[in-house]
Amino acid sequence: MKLTKNSRKIYLDSASATPTNSEVLKVMAKVMRDNFGNPGAIHELGVQSKNIVEGARKKVSSLLGAHTDEIIFTSGATEANNLAILGLSDLEHIVTTNIEHASVLEVCKHLEKNKLASVTYVEVEENGIVDPFKIKKALRPETTLVLVMYANNEIGTIQPIKEIAKLIRHHKKTNPKSKILFHTDAAQAVNYLDINPSRLGVDMLTLGAGKIYGPKGVGALYVKRGVGIYKILQGGDQESGRRAGTENIAGVVGLSAALEITENMKIKESARLVKLRDYFVQKLSKAVLDIQVNGDLKERLPNNINITIPKIPSDLLVVELSAHGIYVSEKSACKSGEKKSSHVIKAIRPGETDGSLRLSLGRETTKKDIDDTLIVLAQILKKLEPWYLK
Ligand code: PLP
Repeated sequence: MKLTKNSRKIYLDSASATPTNSEVLKVMAKVMRDNFGNPGAIHELGVQSKNIVEGARKKVSSLLGAHTDEIIFTSGATEANNLAILGLSDLEHIVTTNIEHASVLEVCKHLEKNKLASVTYVEVEENGIVDPFKIKKALRPETTLVLVMYANNEIGTIQPIKEIAKLIRHHKKTNPKSKILFHTDAAQAVNYLDINPSRLGVDMLTLGAGKIYGPKGVGALYVKRGVGIYKILQGGDQESGRRAGTENIAGVVGLSAALEITENMKIKESARLVKLRDYFVQKLSKAVLDIQVNGDLKERLPNNINITIPKIPSDLLVVELSAHGIYVSEKSACKSGEKKSSHVIKAIRPGETDGSLRLSLGRETTKKDIDDTLIVLAQILKKLEPWYLK
């Protein structure tokens, strides 16, 4: 079977963006139409809007197993990550990993550059997972913050958050004056993993609605009671004085509805996608002998496939697949200074010169999509062979 440009589309870029769920759209549209009053206004329309925002907060907090005052709505995961770091008052020493999202790494670099904090970047292992004992080793009495993402956005590897939390608790016991806090960026994990902050043992946790079939540009930061967070955007005193700016009423309603749907389906959906993911990798490994799967095969998100096909430029593969209606994403080879190169691939395979291809499955992905993608990929590789593989 040959897919042509006119055949159906296959979307395999869910780690980047997800289509908005129709139920989510419905509730958001209603709020946008009916609730335009400013939640800060004291008249009836303002109070109605305020109630809607607080209703969304109640839903998000109960889905997380948290208190309502522990949820700060933001403009997305980027802002939540920035707030978790820059919103703390005294940052002395930070411990993080070398595969965090740019919204963590760039903030750390900014703090270092401006001598506002020192940062230790713990290197992950070859399988893309950080060794909790290396985090422990990096802790100092003056460490104020540990930042470890829950699941990586490129290679989908799941980090041992509970183990790290345990070691941090032990560090606190042996350093009674320690003000150490633990934050995890759960933006990629929400669809598939337990995000209860108490069970995980984290003090702060980042969420984004755009990855869970909700609206883009909305997110939340869970901040454990007692942790002082100061606003990084100056202005009004919304979000209990921790995030200035008129609330995104429809957005937070969309986030809460999307999170509820996600929580209700995550166990079943994870099991379905693990099967599809493993089927794809197994078939492709047979068809293309020397592909490299990047990142641990077991401790990885159910929807993530990240491969390197030696010698074939990954951006060329994305364009070729796109011409057949198949949408995936890529990171180019790690030439230093190149904007699109992958710090994650570089972290797990320092000498790597070939790029990587990420296929991230989603709720609408079927086995037929996987079979069709395998067929088209084989056709493309055959076509490119004379140029790249000889
Ligand atoms: N953190 C992780 C792990 C992500 O994957 C992303 C987006 O891809 C973000 C943070 C930033 O999310 P946003 O662009 O929605 O703010």
